[in-house]
Amino acid sequence: MWQTQPVHIFNVDGSSLLNMKACTIHGPKSLEIEDRPIPKPDTNDLIIRLGAGGICGSDLHYYHEGGVGDFRLKKPFILGHEVAGEVVEVGSGVESLKLGQRVAVNPTRACLRCPECLSGRSNLCRDVFFYGSAARVPHVDGGFAEYFIATERQCIPIPETMDFRVAACAEPLAVTGHAAFRAGSLVGKRVLITGAGPIGVLLAATCRFSGATDVVLTDLLDEPLETAKKMGATETVNVSHVENALTKGSLKSAFDVAFEASGSLKALESCILVTRVGGKVVQVGSLPPGSSAAPLNKIMAKEIDLLGSFRFADEYRWAVDVLSRGWIDVTPMLTKTFPLSDAVQAFELASDRRRAMKVSLVTG
Ligand code: ZN
Repeated sequence: MWQTQPVHIFNVDGSSLLNMKACTIHGPKSLEIEDRPIPKPDTNDLIIRLGAGGICGSDLHYYHEGGVGDFRLKKPFILGHEVAGEVVEVGSGVESLKLGQRVAVNPTRACLRCPECLSGRSNLCRDVFFYGSAARVPHVDGGFAEYFIATERQCIPIPETMDFRVAACAEPLAVTGHAAFRAGSLVGKRVLITGAGPIGVLLAATCRFSGATDVVLTDLLDEPLETAKKMGATETVNVSHVENALTKGSLKSAFDVAFEASGSLKALESCILVTRVGGKVVQVGSLPPGSSAAPLNKIMAKEIDLLGSFRFADEYRWAVDVLSRGWIDVTPMLTKTFPLSDAVQAFELASDRRRAMKVSLVTG
């Protein structure tokens, strides 16, 4: 039933027959398409041919600043962690996946042995390998290459007809699924989301999916808020147009749950101010490095639960399932597709929030 023939990538001695194109970051504004040998899989690994990869905010931080948060680039590495593709090599120890299988690939390889993994919080694993990240040295290569390695556990099969660009959105959707999980039941809730980037608009879709009745999204730009409306926001507010828009009038202290998805300290402050007594604030965005001041007395006086949300655990499988069934439609956020060879152009477009929401790279 598989339409794809095996690609002969390796000689019998294990050396690579072919080189591949890989989108490699060398430093700020230094992104190169390089020829690299195709990585050699172990017996429990697979080789995936890239179907599509979405450019994420953290990829853009590496591109513009040579690092993200506290992680600085020390050596060149391949970016990309929102990826899907097709199995083209299968290790002898792999049982459940076959050549030609189309898969969404979870970029996380947790150790599954540390206390966090054993308590079901593998997103907080102490020994995690995460695609396209400089968090550990040597850095972990990502999926913006013609071929990349994955373990069996990372690969979730997707339908024959599913667009790889949609499947690649399982990663950011899983981030929002985890944030919703942290917030608890959203049924009948009034929700605020600050920041209408890809995570913000996917949060809107996830909150609606999870039963929220009102989903208000804020941003400083009109263009991403237009996408937010198509993704499930019931109301959008451009906070640059109205001074203290959220702390005035009917919006004041009106929200059961607020998700901070912009990485702005001012937005976190708004979230704390407009969440009702006994409500919840979930920090999803990465705030600037170092200590931050916030109106913490309000947390005390209003008995607000302030929650952190970092990446995702089992929510990845949930996200692939929801996208496969078409229960959440991500097509309004897909901006444009570029071949891997035009990655610099793609990264430049992705950096312009007025013109782009999610830019995809495909093999070609
Ligand atoms: Zn672990």
